[in-house]
Amino acid sequence: MTESIKTTCCYCGVGCGIIVHKDRDGKLHVEGDKDHPVNKGMLCSKGMNLHYTVMDTSDRLLYPEMRYNKNLPRQRVSWDQALERTAAVFSTIIEKFGPEAVAFYASGQCLTEEYYVVNKLIKGFIGSNNIDTNSRLCMSSAVAAYKKSLGEDSVPVCYDDIELTDCIFVAGANPAWCHPILWRRVEAAKAANPNLVIIVSDPRVTQTCSLANLHLQLNPGTDIVLHHAIGRVLIEQGDIDASFVHNHTEGFEKYAAKVMERSVEEAAIICGVPAEDIRKAAAYIGASKSFITMWTMGLNQSVIGVDKNLSLINLNLITGKIGKPGSGPLSLTGQPNAMGGREVGGLANILPAHRDLANPLHRKEVEEFWGGKKISDKRGLTATEMFEALESGKLKAIWIMCTNPLLSLPDVRKAEAALKKAKFVVVQEISSKPETIQYADVILPAAAWTEKEGTMTNAERRISYLSKLVTPPGEALPDAEIICRFAQKMGYHGFDYNSFEEIYNEHCQITKGTNIDISALSYDIIKRNRTVQWPYNGDTELGTKRLFTDHRFHTPSKKAIIHAVNDENASEPVSPQLPLILTTGRIRDQWHTMSKTGKVNKLKQHIANAFLEIHPDDAFTRDISEDDIVEITNRNGNVRVKAKLTTSIKRGVVFLPMHWGKILNNDLNRANNLTHTLLDPTSLQPDFKFTAVEVKKY
Ligand code: SF4
Repeated sequence: MTESIKTTCCYCGVGCGIIVHKDRDGKLHVEGDKDHPVNKGMLCSKGMNLHYTVMDTSDRLLYPEMRYNKNLPRQRVSWDQALERTAAVFSTIIEKFGPEAVAFYASGQCLTEEYYVVNKLIKGFIGSNNIDTNSRLCMSSAVAAYKKSLGEDSVPVCYDDIELTDCIFVAGANPAWCHPILWRRVEAAKAANPNLVIIVSDPRVTQTCSLANLHLQLNPGTDIVLHHAIGRVLIEQGDIDASFVHNHTEGFEKYAAKVMERSVEEAAIICGVPAEDIRKAAAYIGASKSFITMWTMGLNQSVIGVDKNLSLINLNLITGKIGKPGSGPLSLTGQPNAMGGREVGGLANILPAHRDLANPLHRKEVEEFWGGKKISDKRGLTATEMFEALESGKLKAIWIMCTNPLLSLPDVRKAEAALKKAKFVVVQEISSKPETIQYADVILPAAAWTEKEGTMTNAERRISYLSKLVTPPGEALPDAEIICRFAQKMGYHGFDYNSFEEIYNEHCQITKGTNIDISALSYDIIKRNRTVQWPYNGDTELGTKRLFTDHRFHTPSKKAIIHAVNDENASEPVSPQLPLILTTGRIRDQWHTMSKTGKVNKLKQHIANAFLEIHPDDAFTRDISEDDIVEITNRNGNVRVKAKLTTSIKRGVVFLPMHWGKILNNDLNRANNLTHTLLDPTSLQPDFKFTAVEVKKY
């Protein structure tokens, strides 16, 4: 007999619905869920092959392992032994050095219930705010910009707006490869409505550009100059919504003065795009009745990431194209549940339900709800800061959960050296492949997709329930259960849940009265409706499609704030020694650090190895031919891969994919050997998209 479940894809933030079937022999196969509002049956190459990652258990961690000191090999132990020793080590460190000497580094791939309990554990019971996730590397600039401009980390639009809009501006993103099913919807919308205008800004000619009416191939780091120049033309042409600006925004005068500081011609020279193309982009936006801005890592992963976000959101605000069908900012979330993590407060600077850690009233509310310790008013260590603190010895113990920082952090060799110095490392993982494993004092095997239940929230605030179908291999346990068992070993009360639903219900209750209120939402309601968008007050079964339809924002004045941001890039500039700008990113068929997609042979057929994209002119001056091995260098390190000559990248810019890591102890294909730990000062997100390098034939 075949057993089937409805679940959600665990890769990107698009959040496609999947039906998984298990046949009599235990073999799985997947199909897109035709009734799912996001993907309507479609799946991309990664989603279509997801079942292979579950069926191939050859790399799975099956049993807890532990070592008593770093010179001894790890041995298989029972769950009780592993968790009791971990609790003993954590307790000793906390007693001797204080709660800030321990930290949890988690992931945007954790389920909401998992995020909730680990956040509660460290902030409410251990007494430190040292929890951050790899979402810091991904969405934190967008989060900060939403808070600054709209008063809340809230994506205003829904995917259905794609079919309603007549203009989309994709800024620094390649959704055709990185958010494929969302892009299929854009393609279908364009086919149904040829008047739909698509503008793309990107230093590379990507697959996304093939659908664009206008591609602005700008120089890296010049996004704000471009957005301001478009804003200037919109103002000059009278293509703004003066009534909306007057009634529902603040800050327009300063903004108008700021964008007038540079002429369109001057902006065009800085951006490296024709002035008439900037005017054309503004004319398209000005003529449209509705307008979506869409972006992801090109803006977020920058030393000026928050300001880049603000300058783009400004275009929605000055045109009044927000809170209306087909209009608004749509940040494309990288990971499947980065948004769910923010809902439970799973970052070093926030508390549950988007409460502010710096706000004493918010801390008190959460303290009283959890009934644990006083919540510290000190912001916790963020992703990169944790590894710096390990290096300096300030942080003694780190618990890494569902992520592979030794591939994904910037300047990763430094992070590797820091992890070597850590007194105690816990790695909670599904796979034996991540580079972190070799540094683990304790390994805790975790259950994977379809092996546990819980919820996730996609990029349009859509919460979905993920069912369990398969028993985890060996002794692997769901992440939430591991954390709760550990909390109990630490002697903390409030972690004796009888089910994941109980954890979920507690999370829902703590949202009561906030802007993301889902206190009336239960597993049953989500299962009945397949998905629900927050906030949910029970008035409509499907939740809230679109935010700010009353044009009252979540700022104190209820007006959106137009920020007059500066336009200078603050990345390390190029120099005669390091004359090229390296930008990093994804390829179509791989996901992050490849611990899942790397297991699927079909997905290697698209692109099998790491490569460097370089313009033929830059290659020629360096005597580099197609497929030559090249060495990319800077002060941080080096990478050696084959060269791929292409005119689709701007002269002076090179591109490395982010997915590859160590192969047989050779780490020379790891893009983050080169990237910097320069951070946006507000979001503390690293500058992955702009690194000065030199390239030579090897
Ligand atoms: Fe999964 Fe994203 Fe592909 Fe949808 S678009 S199937 S969520 S990877």
